[in-house]
Amino acid sequence: MFEVKNLSFQYQVGTQRVDVLKNLNFKVNAGEFVGIQGPSGSGKSTLFYILGFLLKPTSGTVIFDGVDITELSDEDLTVVRNQKIGFVFQQFHLLAKASVLENILLPTRYPSEFADTESDHLGKAKALAQQVGLTGHLRHQPNQLSGGQQQRVAIARALINDIDLILADEPTGNLDSQNAQQILDLLTELNRRGKTIILITHDSDVAKRCSKVLHLKDGAFERTVENFAPPTNTRAAKTTKISRLPKIYDLSMYRKIAKSVFPLVLENLLRNKAKSLLTMLGVVIGVAAVLAMVTLGQFSKERILETYETLGVNKLMIRGYQNWRMKATDSIGVRFRAFDWEHDIVALKKLFPEVMIMSPSMSTTRVRAVAGGVEAGDQKVSVYGVTPEYLDITNRGLEVGRNLTPYDVEGRSPVCLIGFEIAERLFSRINPLSQVVTITDGQRISYSCLVIGVLKSTTSNKDWSPPNLNVFIPYTYFQSVADNWWSSQIHEVALQIAPDGDVEATGKKIQSYFEQKYGKSGMFNVDSDSTLIAQMKKFLNIFEILLAAIAMIALAVGGIGINNMMLVSVTERLKEFGIRKALGATNRSLRLQVLMESVALCVVAGLMGVIIGFTSYESMIFFATKLIPSLKFQWIFEPVAVTMSLFSILAVGIASGLVPALKAEKLQVIEALRSE
Ligand code: ADP
Ligand code: MG
Repeated sequence: MFEVKNLSFQYQVGTQRVDVLKNLNFKVNAGEFVGIQGPSGSGKSTLFYILGFLLKPTSGTVIFDGVDITELSDEDLTVVRNQKIGFVFQQFHLLAKASVLENILLPTRYPSEFADTESDHLGKAKALAQQVGLTGHLRHQPNQLSGGQQQRVAIARALINDIDLILADEPTGNLDSQNAQQILDLLTELNRRGKTIILITHDSDVAKRCSKVLHLKDGAFERTVENFAPPTNTRAAKTTKISRLPKIYDLSMYRKIAKSVFPLVLENLLRNKAKSLLTMLGVVIGVAAVLAMVTLGQFSKERILETYETLGVNKLMIRGYQNWRMKATDSIGVRFRAFDWEHDIVALKKLFPEVMIMSPSMSTTRVRAVAGGVEAGDQKVSVYGVTPEYLDITNRGLEVGRNLTPYDVEGRSPVCLIGFEIAERLFSRINPLSQVVTITDGQRISYSCLVIGVLKSTTSNKDWSPPNLNVFIPYTYFQSVADNWWSSQIHEVALQIAPDGDVEATGKKIQSYFEQKYGKSGMFNVDSDSTLIAQMKKFLNIFEILLAAIAMIALAVGGIGINNMMLVSVTERLKEFGIRKALGATNRSLRLQVLMESVALCVVAGLMGVIIGFTSYESMIFFATKLIPSLKFQWIFEPVAVTMSLFSILAVGIASGLVPALKAEKLQVIEALRSE
């Protein structure tokens, strides 16, 4: 079974090399019960690790079942260990937090790449437990058992996969003589039934139970003693085939590993409930913060922009006034007094094709609306002289009635559209349509109009001209009722530019067109809300990024918490990982186990965070609506924010699991087993 040739091993301590094993040559035949006896420090355990493929020899060859194991990869050795060798350690090395049954079943879970769920491992484990006398203790944990019982669990665990060889390193070293006898009886019995056994001991009484004893001293064999002929039987010669790990991993392989590792992940999280919850708290807060901040940032940005967008983004306002301070020398041909609708404004359409619709915006502010002795507006009513297009340009709609028509404009019809609040005040009980409203400032202004429509209610930030107290009349009628020449002239015009037009550029072109046409005799300016809105947007974007950044920092802090917990937990569980690796866990499955633990923590925390974040921003909006009456409560669900927070959870999970996962993978089994 084993053929060892010129085996040497040196430990490297600092710069010094320590010879531990010196040129060993020996054979172990299938069915033998070989003892390796020597004093403490003679190199027995080192040899044990080499024979168990947990340590590579410095030189020499170890041939196992005809295969030179020094040529196999780490992962392949792991599989050989799992399927061919049963380990029994002096310190038992059971998983402290798992039951007897789970401990016995451990090797069947590996390698996860082939984890087979078909066979009746459970039945076999129970039978083995009975065989070693543990039937009543299946649900107990190792710390509820005596040393002898723990060692019997280890032996049952060694036997659960149909192994050929039992490697035992001082299996009775930690036991009293009675328990030691029982364990030795058990091993003898197993040998009689066909298992090859290599037993390491410093005790010559123990060595007497072996068919052949190799005496080791200072790393070299002194002599070999044959006690008796090994029992010969047919099963001794059989060897099971080793299943090799595939070279290339596909998704289904990873799915298989994940499936067999997932229960371990859950177990571990549930075992450390309080700790997991506390660590998750950081991420919960972080995710909740990301979601709430991003959503609230977006929400307030939209609300703020909404109030500034009364004039819409592709709207322009042109203003032109006579320049009273013009010097005599500035005089040129055409003198500007006010815009001429046909020659100045309608003509723009031909010059600038991107100009779509237009309307004068003549206004009288601080007046009242009166009907049937009732007054509305208290000096806050504004009357606008406009064309029918004005509604489109200002994004206003009608609640009832009809819009102005070109005929109303042409015929100077005394008709009007009234704001929602005016209609409510003046005509609370009757249909406002076809009623007559009188506009007055109590002094010189006083004229009436027939209501043909009521404007939809809307909000704006213009305190001096509340939109619901607006009255729109044909600009021609406005001109005919004006109380002086100046206010009967068009000084302001609203324009709408084609959706794909450049508002700023068109504005500048129109301004310079008028400046050229009228020279210094007029003063022109063009402004659009779009400049203001663009600046506002810039500011709000920065504000939004700032909020998100703060939230991200909170999340990062939470992530560091999880990272820390994972690192500590890997360090705490070195021994667990060592045992798993010794019994057949490949690096891949250990890595995946740690990574999945971290991702699972983050996913649970993330979902909690999303729920808490959602509740908190909705309640913030709710309280804001109590403080700001114009704000309406609404359920909002920002897909961007949710995606962002979910994405960051995943990133945190993977990032905080990566380092611990690599640490778990890199661990040296021997060091890990030695750690407490
Ligand atoms: P035994 O099991 O026979 O008591 P070991 O195989 O454990 O002996 O150790 C053999 C020698 O190797 C001892 O002198 C010990 O000090 C040394 N040794 C064991 N482990 C290490 C190590 N990790 N680094 C350096 N020296 C070691
Ligand atoms: Mg030892």
